[in-house]
Amino acid sequence: MPVVIFRYDDYHADRGAQDASKSQIERRLLDIFSRHNVPLTMGVVPNVVEDYVGTFQPANLSTCQRANLPTFQLVNDREKLTALKAAIARGVVEPALHGWQHQNVNTLACWQVDKLERANVPTFQRSNVPTFQPANVPTSQRNSEFVGLQFEEQLRKIEQGKRALEEWLETPVVSFIPPWNTYDEQTVRALDAVHIRALSASLSTAPNGSGLSPCQGEATALVCLPRTCALAEFDDALTEVKNVGRLAGWNVGRLERWQVKRSNVPTFQRSNVPTCQPGNVPTFQRSNLPTCQPDVAVIVMMFHHFSFFESDDPLARQYANVSLEQLESLVARCARDETIETLTIGEAARRYRDQLSDGRFAAAVQYDACLRRLSHKRYIGKHLARRFPHRAFYPVEFYRKRLKWLQALAR
Ligand SMILES: [Zn+2]
Repeated sequence: MPVVIFRYDDYHADRGAQDASKSQIERRLLDIFSRHNVPLTMGVVPNVVEDYVGTFQPANLSTCQRANLPTFQLVNDREKLTALKAAIARGVVEPALHGWQHQNVNTLACWQVDKLERANVPTFQRSNVPTFQPANVPTSQRNSEFVGLQFEEQLRKIEQGKRALEEWLETPVVSFIPPWNTYDEQTVRALDAVHIRALSASLSTAPNGSGLSPCQGEATALVCLPRTCALAEFDDALTEVKNVGRLAGWNVGRLERWQVKRSNVPTFQRSNVPTCQPGNVPTFQRSNLPTCQPDVAVIVMMFHHFSFFESDDPLARQYANVSLEQLESLVARCARDETIETLTIGEAARRYRDQLSDGRFAAAVQYDACLRRLSHKRYIGKHLARRFPHRAFYPVEFYRKRLKWLQALAR
C-alpha cells in the first residue's frame, strides 16, 4: 500500500502586500485539508527574511547588509499563527522546520538557477552552469541556507528555529525540510544533535552526489523522505507504484494498511495467501506472519503557493501546474481511497522507520543520478523512461534490480 505525503513549503509570516495572494492560498489549503481530514506537512519558516526567494542577489550585498535585511517572525502574525495552531490541534497539519530565515548564504551562486533568471547571472558565471538546470548545478553552488556553513553555525540556526516553532506552536517539531532542498553532512549532524527524526529534501540535492548519503550512515537516526513528484503527477505516480508493486508481488490490495513479503510466508501457506493480504490468511495462521515486513513505497508531493494557477507570484508562470479546485478533488479522492495511506512526514518516519532505513535512500540517490545523466544524454526516451519508474520512493530491492543496467547505460 503506497504512503502518500502532501508537503507544502514556505509557510511564514505575511510580509504585507507582496504576500496577499500567497496568504489567501494558504487559507484555502488549511481549509481543504481540514475539511477532508487529510494530513498535510507544512514547511514553516520561523523568521523569514524579506527577500526569501533570493532575488536580491545577496552576492551583491555586503555581509552586514545581509544581516540587516528585515525579517518577519511568525509569532508576530497572529492570524497566520492562530490558523496554523488550529490545524495542528485538529491533527491535520504537522509543522516541519523549513530553515530559520530562508536566507541564501551561498555566495557562489546566489541567483535562482533556472532559465527565467538567466539574465541575472553575471556573464563570467554562466560558463560554469552549462544548461542552467538546477539538477546540473553542483550542490555546493546551489541556493542554500546551510550548505558550506560550519557545524556550529548550522546547529545555531536549526536549534533556534526548532525552539521557536515548538514554543509558538506548542507542539514538538520532529521533521526538517531544508530551504531549496539543499543541505550537507554538517546539517545532518546538527539535525541529529537536536533530535530531528525526519528529513525531506530531494534526491538530486543529496550531499556526495552518487555516493553514500549521510542519511544511511550509522551515526544518524534520521529517516529520509525525499520529494518524489509534483501535485499534477499524482495519478501517474500512483499507477506507477501499483504496477511496480504488482510486478514485485507486493500487496496492493484494499484491506490492510501494510504489506506482506510473499517470500516470508512459508511455502505451504502461500496457496492460502493469494494476494499476500493478511486479511486472507486464516486467523490461526496469522501468528506466523509477524516477521513479514511491509514493502512501503512513498509518494511525496512537494508544492508551493506558486504551484497554483491562482497565484499572482511571477514564479507561477513557470511552476503552476494545478488549480485549487483540482487540489481539492485530489485531496477528496485520497481521503476516499482505501488503497493508499495518507501520512505526514513525521508519522511516516515513525511508522515505517525500519522499512525506510533499508538502504533505499543511498540507492535512490544513485538511481536518480543515473537517470538524470541518461536523460541529459538523451538516451532515455519515453519508452525507456517507462521502464525506470521514478515518481515514488521505493524499497531498496527496486533500485538494486535496476541500478546495474542503468549504470552500464550511463557509463
Ligand atoms: Zn522554501
